[in-house]
Amino acid sequence: MERFVIVGGGLAGATAAGELREQGFDGEVHLFAAEPHSPYIRPPLSKEYFTGKEARDSIFVHPDDWYRERELVVSTASPVVALADHAVTLESGREVWFDRVLLATGSSARRLEVAGSSAAGIHYLRTVEDSETLRDAVAGGGQNVVVIGGGWIGLEIAAAARGYGNTVTVLMRDAIPLASAIGEELGTMFRELHEANGVTFEVRDVLSFDTRDGSVTGVVTNAGTVPATLVVVGIGADPNVELADAAGLEVEDGILVDEHLAASANDVFAAGDVANAYHPVVMQRMRNEHWANALGTGKVAARSMLGQKAIFDEVPYFYTDQYDLGMEYSGYPLLADGAKVVYRGNRAKREFIAFWVAEGSVVAGMNVNVWDVNEDVKELITSGRAVDEAKLADESVALSTL
Ligand code: NAP
Repeated sequence: MERFVIVGGGLAGATAAGELREQGFDGEVHLFAAEPHSPYIRPPLSKEYFTGKEARDSIFVHPDDWYRERELVVSTASPVVALADHAVTLESGREVWFDRVLLATGSSARRLEVAGSSAAGIHYLRTVEDSETLRDAVAGGGQNVVVIGGGWIGLEIAAAARGYGNTVTVLMRDAIPLASAIGEELGTMFRELHEANGVTFEVRDVLSFDTRDGSVTGVVTNAGTVPATLVVVGIGADPNVELADAAGLEVEDGILVDEHLAASANDVFAAGDVANAYHPVVMQRMRNEHWANALGTGKVAARSMLGQKAIFDEVPYFYTDQYDLGMEYSGYPLLADGAKVVYRGNRAKREFIAFWVAEGSVVAGMNVNVWDVNEDVKELITSGRAVDEAKLADESVALSTL
């Protein structure tokens, strides 16, 4: 009987396992998760689960029975430490052979290694335990929270920490949060939203942490010390490539894979955060750390493992919820960089769609507090058809008719 091994118990790995059965694979499927939990999703860790709107059960991709019913063997707390020719080695020393393997090892929170960085009260957010520990620390309010990094974790946690009644200061390298993800104009909208909710932004370089009795008391920066009772570091994530690298696979900002998600060695595939995959639309490799990418690449990798030569060509997608603002983004940041932004709707009320238009067609779209338009936005992007900017901006013209 054939045996497929999946290394990694995140959304990409879990999705691939399910897709293998969905596609009729009747061989053995073994999924090894490093964490002591069955696969779970991470978006709620800085949103609904963190704010207490959703219960813990809601984060799991499937209930445990779901895997059992499909004879998908999930081993938790089972890190894989080596990959060789058609076999993986677990931390326990056990070796497991495979016909094909999927590496879905995810990414890790980038660490800020400066003096004092191991002090109590300095938090990162990656795992469910990180989320619960941080939530316990801020949920009572009254903390002086300093967030380092103006990215998605920084801003979502800033919003939630304000919601729990804490003081929040965000330290960034540049004046505009999220600028590298969505551009300066829309990054400024997020900054203003946070400022209206009482968050302070400072452009600072972090040099070290002040501590007392082993706990953080302040963040020392190039322009003075910012007092803190609690620090959250959200300065990006790095792909977990150690296993692939040691096995001699081609690695460069992730595991290099083609549009079928096949890696540089036979019978090895990669999906999710760790895959730096050739995307046929942007015609270059892209690594994407968002939830939808884990879902999409997990499915395609499973099909490719079955020899179907599936292609991953989805439009990247992600979303955020901060205060009373909800937004969805679909599109290609690589193509949107430098593109003209066309707005439809009411920017002052933060109810609009922003379209990035390059060479006459839409390459990305972001709907802010406007709902049920994502499919139309995606369709505009995938079709690549020429659009009339005046009609794009005109709310009376249905998106589906553009
Ligand atoms: P991120 O969104 O990539 O943002 C990291 C931020 O930290 C960037 O603004 C970056 O600035 C800044 N930065 C990097 N090094 C720094 C340093 N030494 N000092 C100060 N700032 C520094 O990463 P993240 O917020 O840590 O989130 C981790 C991953 O989870 C990301 O892939 C993110 O997309 C994902 N995530 C997504 C969502 C969502 O989709 N809603 C929510 C949470 C997390 P530069 O841009 O100048 O490098």
